[in-house]
Amino acid sequence: MKIIHMTAEMAPFAKAGGLGDVIYGLGNAQAKKKEDLITVVLPKYESLDLSSLTSLRILIHDLMVPFEHQWTHTTVWEGNLGLIRIILIESQDPAEFFQREKIYGYPDDIERFAYFCCAAFEFIKTDTPPDIVHIHEWQTALLAPFLKTNSFSSKIVFTIHNLSYQGICDPSLLDKINLSPSINLQDDEQPHLLNLLKGAIIYSDIITTVSPTYSQEILSPQEGNGLYKVLQKEQDKIDGILNGIDFDYWNPKKDTYLPFHYSLDNLIPFPPFLAKKAKIKNHLQKILFMEEEEETPMIGVITRLVAQKGPELIKEALLYTFEAGGQFLLLGSTFDPFHHEMFYALKRKFAGSRRVHIELSYNESLAHLIYAASDLILIPSIFEPCGLTQMIAMRYGTVPLARETGGLKDTIFDLHHSIRPLSKRNGFTFLKPEKEDLLNALNRALETWRSHPQEWHKLIEVGMQTDFSWDRPAAQYKDLYNSLLVSKK
Ligand code: ADP
Repeated sequence: MKIIHMTAEMAPFAKAGGLGDVIYGLGNAQAKKKEDLITVVLPKYESLDLSSLTSLRILIHDLMVPFEHQWTHTTVWEGNLGLIRIILIESQDPAEFFQREKIYGYPDDIERFAYFCCAAFEFIKTDTPPDIVHIHEWQTALLAPFLKTNSFSSKIVFTIHNLSYQGICDPSLLDKINLSPSINLQDDEQPHLLNLLKGAIIYSDIITTVSPTYSQEILSPQEGNGLYKVLQKEQDKIDGILNGIDFDYWNPKKDTYLPFHYSLDNLIPFPPFLAKKAKIKNHLQKILFMEEEEETPMIGVITRLVAQKGPELIKEALLYTFEAGGQFLLLGSTFDPFHHEMFYALKRKFAGSRRVHIELSYNESLAHLIYAASDLILIPSIFEPCGLTQMIAMRYGTVPLARETGGLKDTIFDLHHSIRPLSKRNGFTFLKPEKEDLLNALNRALETWRSHPQEWHKLIEVGMQTDFSWDRPAAQYKDLYNSLLVSKK
């Protein structure tokens, strides 16, 4: 089977967030099987660190791409990342679409990725025809109408990683990209605008979301972000496949960011294993100038500080933990002045405290240390398509406390989770995104940590024993591709 992933991101060399991890994790798991040929196509951003690619060469010197009523010169590069074939689209356009510092965040983002879709479409025409074109997020959504209206035989799989990003834009875009105005991309809530995501919903053969619960949530007016009607109409082709995490990279046994290593192998008896984790906690307390207390619960948060992640609830949990005598570590990247100021004010308030540490940046090495050192990881999201942090935390023997939503609901099981036996309990959850519910769960967690160590150990054990690797999701995607190809015949 020949499978092409179309994406704006791919870890490690073009990553802005979780999407990059998913493309690498899924592509790698698929390629490792050696059953199928896996290609990933993405823009050749100026900021790409190409050192991880091998055999990089120019495949097509001058691919002519129609865009804005002219032929735009495009160079197509080919290389390998392990077993994955990588195709990089380099534009030679006057606006220098990809000669920018960052992947996203520019006023012309819609044009940039519309151009990318046009170029990727031209590239597909030159390559051996793929069986599956797997498109991801709004940035590649236009490929679905392109392929479908040009009678391509490839099957189109569209994965929604986060429905709140849709690519809403002015209808004049249609003229630039040579797509027939009869194509229905009209936004349902703002009919004078286009919605690129809607095109992928209508014109793909199958839609997946990154967790089963999210595939149901997006059908409701509350969570459907203005697209619930079209999603309801197409619901027969929607499926939910839970993401995985890269088990090689997120591995406390060999994580190069950690000063000490541990694994499930030395889980029994518990003390030796926990001692290693405690040493990392002590190491982190030392380097962050926090109180070096083993008998204090440490709560960690690693997140983008945006409305989706429940910033108000994070603040409430921090204040409560401090009052309750615990330690709180917040590693959060901010993107807007409001949330930056909100958490900067908290940072100032706790500047003299040795039980609260707030770091407002993206910091990979600190993230690894917090995952390993903390007792509890807090994820109070308002909505969460899948969420990787809870899976990473469990891999590191750290118990998650999260709101029951999206992928968090599919991966974290508390006492009141009716469909799971008690022995499969692995964390703490709360239902409503409100202070009272959150603090109730937090209180239960702190009480368990302090007074019921055996129960706590069991939570750690269940979490560490769960296979959140990409093996299962990759097999599920393969089944899905197979079902599409069978239906083609
Ligand atoms: P999202 O993609 O919505 O941000 P996910 O839970 O799917 O949320 O993925 C978040 C990923 O980004 C995880 O790997 C997490 O460790 C990482 N991450 C988030 N914020 C930070 C940060 N400030 N510093 C380092 N890593 C972060």
